[in-house]
Amino acid sequence: MNQTVEKKIKDATFVLVGIGQEMAWKQKKSFTGEDAWINDYQTAIEVEGTAADNQLLCAYENLAKLLKGKLYFIVTINTDDLIYRSSFNKEQITAPCGSIFRLQCENHIFDGKEEIARIKRELEEGKKGTEIAKPVCPICKKAAVPNIVRSSGYLEEGYLSSWERYRTWLSCTLNQKLCILELGVGFQYPTVIRWPFEKTAFLNQKASLVRVNSKLFQISEELKEKAVSVPENPVDFLLKS
Ligand SMILES: [Zn+2]
Repeated sequence: MNQTVEKKIKDATFVLVGIGQEMAWKQKKSFTGEDAWINDYQTAIEVEGTAADNQLLCAYENLAKLLKGKLYFIVTINTDDLIYRSSFNKEQITAPCGSIFRLQCENHIFDGKEEIARIKRELEEGKKGTEIAKPVCPICKKAAVPNIVRSSGYLEEGYLSSWERYRTWLSCTLNQKLCILELGVGFQYPTVIRWPFEKTAFLNQKASLVRVNSKLFQISEELKEKAVSVPENPVDFLLKS
């Protein structure tokens, strides 16, 4: 771990973490065309079966160790939920882009556990994509899709309670020693992490910003004084700590 970064975290009371696409589960996209809808379920099946020595999971665990004793909150744009399998306090994470483990129809959100298990079983039985029935909502029987921002008609209720907790937490960091740690966040959904984090760093006199990114590591002029840029993939960066 970069010593400057380590010191910034150590010196802070609060740590705000933003997690982006560079820490997302790499989807295999084994299914194409009409069957492409299965890919998200395939990812969910893989994440459920993640071994303890998985690199991404180890990176999360190292981050958890780094944040020990800190008042932290994590905002992730990833929808793979792998972070919930690590030892972070789940109450201190918000995932506004949704979760592939939750499903939705036009009006209802429900736990996707049973449908994921059914699809897993059918795939193991050797069924082809076209032979697998698409999930339906158990309440209204209409077609269901993952409760993620990529799905049309995305229902935001799935994450709003955790988002409220985040907003409350953030209001407590005002003029406190805050370290903002941005890990592999690009410009996919800039209004979720990238822009508001920069604004928070700018407005809080005692804030520092650490931006870890393999490509988009640049820091704007106005934040130069309080920011550190680490041009590295965040998974590699965390695995070294
Ligand atoms: Zn429904």
